[in-house]
Amino acid sequence: MNPTRPTEVRDLLRRLDFKPSRVLGQNFLIDGNILRIMLDAAELTPADKVLEVGPGLGVLTAPLLERAGHVLAIEKDDVLHAHIQQTLGGAPNFTLIHGDALHENLPAHLARGINKVVANLPYSVGTRILVDLCHAEARPERMVVTVQREVADRITASPNTKDYGVLSVFAQADYKSSLHKAIAHSCFFPVPQIESAIVLLIRQPRACPAKDERHFRALVKRCFGQRRKQIHSLVKDAPALERAGLDPKQRPETLSVDDWIRLSNELSLAPQ
Ligand code: SAM
Repeated sequence: MNPTRPTEVRDLLRRLDFKPSRVLGQNFLIDGNILRIMLDAAELTPADKVLEVGPGLGVLTAPLLERAGHVLAIEKDDVLHAHIQQTLGGAPNFTLIHGDALHENLPAHLARGINKVVANLPYSVGTRILVDLCHAEARPERMVVTVQREVADRITASPNTKDYGVLSVFAQADYKSSLHKAIAHSCFFPVPQIESAIVLLIRQPRACPAKDERHFRALVKRCFGQRRKQIHSLVKDAPALERAGLDPKQRPETLSVDDWIRLSNELSLAPQ
């Protein structure tokens, strides 16, 4: 079956007696061009170990298995899991987990050598999964993910823009992020109401490493929780602000990723 032919996808869903769930973000990719763009962006080789969250009907999974050395896929849905198991389960380089990606220990999976993520992420949990992946110690070197357009804009936003926030800082702390391609609604079946885009994340070393990663993350979350306030009223440590080279009147949205890390380093080193 050709999973980029809408009529064949419809037939298959009928045969499986399957009604796509909006809660599980079951909008299947049916566009060969978008599929090719995602695969090309992943730059796969037989040395790669790939994680795919939500293989669905396997439109991405099958070519991933052809190009990569190993694929680990996690599917929550019972029917889709059984379908993937039946159609692709025999591939020697495939591990399929029947489970919820939010309850899986993603950092532990990554630590077993996964270096790339290629996935059309379910809308409702895409952000949480992406943050978990970015925060993992063995974070992947390259990620090609389809997310809702608004999330793509937040991941790739620059300081001093309305979309710049916690997600931008967490994604950009270790990745060069770019909106690789906007995707038309018609590229999915059923057609979603939400707009989508492919985001490309390429890991890069930090110019300024955080001395205490937990402190850095907590600081960013807390300050963006009150993004209209000036930084001096959020941090209340004038010497640390000065040492970090910040103007106390700056608002959270004006601080670059390096500014946040420098500020966290100064605060976490200050005597309590
Ligand atoms: N990869 C397929 C494609 O591109 O057509 C399907 C993508 S569809 C947007 C999202 C997939 O994620 C569905 O197969 C859905 O069942 C699965 N899914 C939703 N929530 C999940 C979760 N928490 N853990 C694992 N899979 C999930």
